[in-house]
Amino acid sequence: PDGTSSTPLLTVSQYACKRRTTTVNNNKILTDALEVLAESYEFKEIPGRCLAFRRASSVLKSLPWAVRCLRDTEGLPCLGEHSKAVMEEILQSGHSFEVEKTLSDEKYQTLKLFTSVFGVGPKTAEKWYRGGLRSFSDVLAAPGIHLNRMQQSGFLHYGDISRAVSKAEARALGNLIDEAVRAVTPDAVLALTGGFRRYRGKEFGHDVDFIVTTREPGKEEKLLTGIIERLKQQVSTLFGLLLYCEYNASTFDMVKLPSHQFEAMDHFAKCFLIVRLEGGRVEGGLHGAEGDGRGWRAVRVDLVSPPMDRYAFALLGWTGSRQFERDLRRFARAERRMLLDNHTLYDKTKKEFLAATTEKDIFAHLGLEYIEPWQRNA
Ligand code: ATP
Ligand code: MN
Ligand code: MN
Repeated sequence: PDGTSSTPLLTVSQYACKRRTTTVNNNKILTDALEVLAESYEFKEIPGRCLAFRRASSVLKSLPWAVRCLRDTEGLPCLGEHSKAVMEEILQSGHSFEVEKTLSDEKYQTLKLFTSVFGVGPKTAEKWYRGGLRSFSDVLAAPGIHLNRMQQSGFLHYGDISRAVSKAEARALGNLIDEAVRAVTPDAVLALTGGFRRYRGKEFGHDVDFIVTTREPGKEEKLLTGIIERLKQQVSTLFGLLLYCEYNASTFDMVKLPSHQFEAMDHFAKCFLIVRLEGGRVEGGLHGAEGDGRGWRAVRVDLVSPPMDRYAFALLGWTGSRQFERDLRRFARAERRMLLDNHTLYDKTKKEFLAATTEKDIFAHLGLEYIEPWQRNA
């Protein structure tokens, strides 16, 4: 080190799982711009370009300093020509022509709007767009459009579930779920996962994710259906607590591993819920409750229920972020000849499954330094 360089002489890994990324983002203007482009390529179904922009954005998020000029980024991985050109434009003029053009593009705007509805993915959004639909009222008035139950709930509770969930609301929901879990069985294990496990301080999420299991092997599915039954029976004032519930039974089969099951979606029993959360006086604000005098809001909740011996893998997989997970798997495959997913870790060289009871075990098997949940906001 010659002491004259303004850029810290640290090597930044191309893998998000070898970087520590908190929610403090020193390059938000740049990462927001790159993520607009990533999303637009996702809509255009060009996954390679989408991933390139996501990787570039993720690297910038991990930096403990703000990029001031392109020279600052020398030696950083994952920054391609296209990303650098966009960054250069923003650093020099405050705007990127391509990003502005994307943001004002009718198709981008419409797909962004449609996919913001719970239950509407890029495929459905694209179909509606091709059918000439441009707004929610177009969709709701269009003849011959069949909305499934999930999408109907998505429209019905759109205002509430597109509003951020505060930490206080997540805590209140945790108590509600915990109560239901205890009523079903006293030996259950309940943990917060997803974004709320990664955030520190006053952070907000789009839903609340929980992982729930029991020490009694084979009882985890019954536990989840029991919790759902319990929540359905619970009535707050005149209304049920569960505004929406989709239950997916387990399709997990250890015998078939590792052939088919190394993929993004996992096979554990899970449910996607919309829960009615009471009380307008929770610290941090029940946003929906103010102004309209309802005193409650709808919140999206996900529950996943793996068998106890899969707990560490499921917890690691559900904690995210998505980019962190992608790179964990890519690192395992490319650098260690191992296959990692939400169920298991397989060593292709030794031809054996590697057991783990904690996330630390999995990092150790992979020869990675442990990264705390709040450092996984890649
Ligand atoms: P936010 O705070 O916006 O909710 P998040 O990281 O919690 O951010 P989620 O969409 O709730 O985002 O996803 C949480 C984690 O759960 C992610 O790591 C994702 O990979 C995993 N996940 C979500 N849905 C599924 C699913 N159907 N099957 C398997 N894993 C899933
Ligand atoms: Mn979440
Ligand atoms: Mn979720």
